[in-house]
Amino acid sequence: MRKPILAGNWKMFKTVSQALSFVEHLQDLAEDAPQQVDTVICAPFTSIYALNQLLEDSSIKLAAQNLHQAEEGAYTGEVSALMIKDVGCTYVIIGHSERRQYFGETDDSVNQKVHAAFKHGLLPIICVGEDLDQRNQGITKQLVEEQVRAALSAVKADDVPRLVIAYEPIWAIGTGKTATAQDANEVCAHIRQVVGDMYGKEKGDLVRIQYGGSVKPENIEELMLQPDIDGALVGGASLDPGSFAKLLKGA
Ligand code: PEP
Repeated sequence: MRKPILAGNWKMFKTVSQALSFVEHLQDLAEDAPQQVDTVICAPFTSIYALNQLLEDSSIKLAAQNLHQAEEGAYTGEVSALMIKDVGCTYVIIGHSERRQYFGETDDSVNQKVHAAFKHGLLPIICVGEDLDQRNQGITKQLVEEQVRAALSAVKADDVPRLVIAYEPIWAIGTGKTATAQDANEVCAHIRQVVGDMYGKEKGDLVRIQYGGSVKPENIEELMLQPDIDGALVGGASLDPGSFAKLLKGA
């Protein structure tokens, strides 16, 4: 059995005080939320330390939205895996489409970041997904397969069960358009098959695969009912504690 995982990606939103206030509200709203769902907040770097203090005894885990692949060095403006771990993160998002699109991340840098994350005990949430043009060309599965194979290049089999992969069709991110639950499941099943092909079916069956792209309280239940969708990576609808609490119930 794979434990469902709901992750809220705040992107470049929320000051420290807004982040703390969100968590206080969420804890009130989701007091008796089921513990069967791993709950993750992917906060801006600036809020992580303060959130970690507040969440000390909580089951809510923290993620960074990016890391740099080097151990340390003259990389002005960057943050390493060690620093992210040190400040209290359990997870880290790697290769979000906005990073690929605006910050030049490639399959190769994604792979290096995955290795850096595992080396420091962080659990990567690796994002893959096609744009609208690629979808219209009918190459979604092929493209996503290439992204998964590249991201996992030289990753040890023992690390595979700790992975999370987020299938996020780019055309569905922040647009209000969602893949149908069946379409999303078909691609997630393909991702599982690819991991199984690389590491054996048993490992493929252990990997948690999220869907992301305009997930809301209204559509999360249908997505979660799909056999190969183990959770959601949520942007816009994760910014409000009321909406996040509803997502948690739906998950
Ligand atoms: C995301 O940021 O990963 C995302 C899926 O955003 P949204 O839910 O707003 O589409």
